[in-house]
Amino acid sequence: MTFSLDITDSNTRAALASRAAAPQKASLVGLSRAEMAEALVAAGIVPERQARMRVQQLWHWLYVRGVSEFSQMFNISKDLRTALDQHFAIARPEIVEEQISADGTRKWLFRFPARGAGRPVEIETVYIPEEGRGTLCISSQVGCTLTCSFCHTGTQKLVRNLTAEEILAQLLTARDRLGDFPDRDTPAGAIVPADGRKVSNIVMMGMGEPLYNFEAVKQALLIASDGDGLALSKRRITLSTSGVVPEIFRTGEEIGVMLAISLHASNDDLRDLLVPINKKYPLKDLIDACRKYPGLSNARRITFEYVMLKDVNDSLEDAKALVHLLKGIPAKINLIPFNPWPGTNYQCSDWETIEKFADFINNAGYASPIRTPRGRDILAACGQLKSESERLKKSERLALEAMMIAGHGEA
Ligand code: SAH
Ligand code: SF4
Repeated sequence: MTFSLDITDSNTRAALASRAAAPQKASLVGLSRAEMAEALVAAGIVPERQARMRVQQLWHWLYVRGVSEFSQMFNISKDLRTALDQHFAIARPEIVEEQISADGTRKWLFRFPARGAGRPVEIETVYIPEEGRGTLCISSQVGCTLTCSFCHTGTQKLVRNLTAEEILAQLLTARDRLGDFPDRDTPAGAIVPADGRKVSNIVMMGMGEPLYNFEAVKQALLIASDGDGLALSKRRITLSTSGVVPEIFRTGEEIGVMLAISLHASNDDLRDLLVPINKKYPLKDLIDACRKYPGLSNARRITFEYVMLKDVNDSLEDAKALVHLLKGIPAKINLIPFNPWPGTNYQCSDWETIEKFADFINNAGYASPIRTPRGRDILAACGQLKSESERLKKSERLALEAMMIAGHGEA
C-alpha cells in the first residue's frame, strides 16, 4: 500500500514563497563566466579590470556555497552587495508543493516567474534516493511538443522551453531542500565530494525533450559540471532523448554527458506508434547516430530505455529483435515497468514477463536492470510528470488509486 505525504501546509508554503525570486531583475544564475562579467560591467557596478575576480567570487558563492542572497557573500563589500542586489537576482524559484513518497522519493512543483509577455510557469523535479547515490530528475521544458502515446507529459502541450537558469535552479533548490550545500562551518572553498552528496547524479528525464532545447540544456549542464562550482562529473549526468537524431552528435561533442535513448520498440511500425518522432527519424538513422556518439566505449555505454507495455512490446520475439538491433553498440538496456496514469489505455507487463524479457537480454550479454518504479504514489515516476493548470483533478486521483489497487501499479 502506498501513501503520499504533502508537507506543504499553508505556513510552510508562505515561508517558502517569501524566499522566491523577484521577477524583474536579470538573474546571474545560468550565465557563463564571460556573460556574467559582461553583465557586471554593463550594469556599471564592476570595473572591467575587476570583472574576472568578481566573477570568480560570485561563482564560488553561487555554485559551491549555494547562497541565494547577496547579503550572505561575506567577502564582498557591503556597497557592492547592495549594488548587485539592485541590479540582479539570484533567488530560488517558488516551491509551490513538495511531496514525499512512502519510498523516500521527493517531488517538487516549482514556479518560475513570467518571461517577457508570458505567464509564470510550473514544472516538476524529482529526487530519487538510492543505496549509495541520489539522482535528481530534471525537466527541460514546460510540457512537451512530442506525443509519445504512453507518456503523461506528452498529453500536456508545450508551454515553453526552460532557460538555463531555470534548469540549474532545479538542482540548486533541490540541494537547498536536501541540506546538500556545505554549512557555514565547512571551511570556505570546500566542494562537497561526490560520494558525500545527496544529489550525486542528475538525469535529464523530467518533463520535455532536452534536445529541443539544446542551447539552454547545454549551458546548464556545462555549469553543473564545472569543476570550480557544482562539480558534478559528466559521467554522472545522463541526458535522455526520444531520438532527435540531428542533435545527438553535438550532445556528445559539445556537452559530453552520458546518453540515454528512449527506444521502447525495435521495429519502425511499432515505434511510429509509441514514439511518433520515429516517423521523422526512423530507427536506422537513430541507431546510426548512436554508433557515432563521441566517446562511446564499453566504459561509456549508451543506455536504451524500454518501457514494458503489456502485449505491446514485451514478447520474447521483441527481446530478440532488440538484441539484434543493438548488436555491436556498447549498451545497457533499462527496462522500465510502465507507470500508469489516469486516462491511459496501456497496462504494465506482468512481472514474470518482464523477468523473462530481462533474462533473455542478459543472456545475450547486456546489462538489463529492471528499474524499480519509484514515487508512483505521488505521480513522480517516469512519464507521470505533468504540471500547471493540468494537475490532477480529484476524480483522476481516485481513478489512479483504483489502478494501483487493481495491481497495475504495484510491480
Ligand atoms: N523526453 C525525453 C526525456 C524524458 S522522459 C525522452 O523521452 O527521452 C524519461 C523516460 O521515461 C523516457 O524514456 C520515457 O520514454 C519514459 N516514460 C514516459 N512515460 C512513461 C510511463 N508512463 N511509464 C514508464 N516510462 C515512461
Ligand atoms: Fe516528451 Fe519524452 Fe514524454 Fe515523449 S516520453 S512525450 S519525448 S517527455
